[in-house]
Amino acid sequence: MLLSGGIIDGKFNSGNQRLDVINPATGGLAGTIDAADSAIVEAAIASAKAAFPAWAAMPDVTRIAALQACADILDGNADELAKLLTTEQGKPLGGMGSRFELGGAAAWTRHTASLNLPVEFVQDDADAHIAVHRKPLGVVAAIAPWNWPIMIAIWQIMPAIRAGNTVVLKPSPYTPLSTLRMVELFQQALPPGVLNVVAGSDEIGPALTAHPDVAKICFTGSCATGRRVMQSAAPTLKRLTLELGGNDAGIVLPDCNPKAIAEGLFWGAFIKNGQTCAALKRLFVHDSIYDSVCEELASFAATIKTGPGMDDDSLLGPIQNRMQFDKVSRLVAEAKATGARILTGGEPMGGNGYFYPATIVADAETGMALVDEEQFGPALPVIRYSNVDDAIEQANAVDVGLGGSIWSADIPRARDLAMQLECGTAWVNKHGAIRPDTPFGGVKASGFGVEFGHHGLGEFVSLHVIHD
Ligand code: NDP
Repeated sequence: MLLSGGIIDGKFNSGNQRLDVINPATGGLAGTIDAADSAIVEAAIASAKAAFPAWAAMPDVTRIAALQACADILDGNADELAKLLTTEQGKPLGGMGSRFELGGAAAWTRHTASLNLPVEFVQDDADAHIAVHRKPLGVVAAIAPWNWPIMIAIWQIMPAIRAGNTVVLKPSPYTPLSTLRMVELFQQALPPGVLNVVAGSDEIGPALTAHPDVAKICFTGSCATGRRVMQSAAPTLKRLTLELGGNDAGIVLPDCNPKAIAEGLFWGAFIKNGQTCAALKRLFVHDSIYDSVCEELASFAATIKTGPGMDDDSLLGPIQNRMQFDKVSRLVAEAKATGARILTGGEPMGGNGYFYPATIVADAETGMALVDEEQFGPALPVIRYSNVDDAIEQANAVDVGLGGSIWSADIPRARDLAMQLECGTAWVNKHGAIRPDTPFGGVKASGFGVEFGHHGLGEFVSLHVIHD
């Protein structure tokens, strides 16, 4: 398969360099793209800039209808897109894999279509008329990662175009294929230039984020790259939504039933192999039930098949790329060497793909790299605590703060403790549950700005006050 790495002004437009996309289940080729370069980025931004005035001036109903048409396109082509996604990303077709991602993308698009951008009246009487209007910003650069390539691209582009902006989207070079095909299909529903896509070499990210004609950047990825994006944006003071890494803590109180919570804890941590920004990445368990929780988690993990995403019975696929595979392997090996116990998994599965089994690591402690660094992979460190204040302190002792969770039968107490977690969302008796109507974002080095619902839509407009 060879795809063009650029769709600009409704037409294919890409450079001459080839970029191979690896299938992480085999180590072989998933496809090849004609990579976009900085000249193509220039053309994409020019196209989005030219399309902006007409798109911004469209009546709201037209933009709503366009988003609804995009949702229908996602539903109507879910099978093809899901297979492409599994081939390049690795995630299973079933379970919480590619079909689930396509379904979520359509649901998020429909919900975003339903949101309003009302004019707000602060005062409207004989003394004063103060109206607050919401106006689109201009060209939005959307930079999406490889873990949820379709879903995260949708989170970035749909509110942008719903609000009247135009977009240049850049998928990760690890997973451009399904995104390029999706954007090609969306051209049926959108005027030329409203949604452009560029996929290619390392030069295009910086070219996009530094460009003076880009008004806003949505970036989802690592904290380190987020900082570089912010530096790029500074000279022209672009708006930013940065959804960066996390190292989410879950705290299990002594009143929990270990068997009853094991499945929820497992999927909170291992959704998409742990390659999810708001997955549970450090689990603190009270001493009195520590051994039982570890045992139940390990037994549940042993029932989960890790295998090729195209196999019907695989619930987890390979790690997405070699860099991430090496990182997880290193962190687990280091934890083992410094006294942690591997209850299940703990070694690469061999073969040509990047397969690593779901791994539960007991006797982990703050200070081990597996606990302190974001592993972003299928290895969960379980840390013993005896005093909940101490667990909260350790949970908060990292520079990131995306999600967190408290697990307890005593809901009022769990809510009180959840309030003490330094993060954007703290769940009770679940982890990582996100919804299109509920704001989601991080604190500290996890970034700023929120996504979803009317709070998220608000990040794509400026307020314009008319006061007479
Ligand atoms: P990065 O965050 O480093 O890169 C993500 C995207 O940013 C890529 O498309 C990359 O494109 C682009 N990029 C890199 N430099 C710039 C720049 N200066 N300006 C604009 N865009 C740029 O993620 P990695 O894939 O390297 O993963 C590293 C770590 O990030 C993971 O281990 C994980 O901890 C975290 N991560 C977090 C995600 C989340 O959902 N929050 C998602 C993915 C990763 P290019 O490669 O072409 O330069």
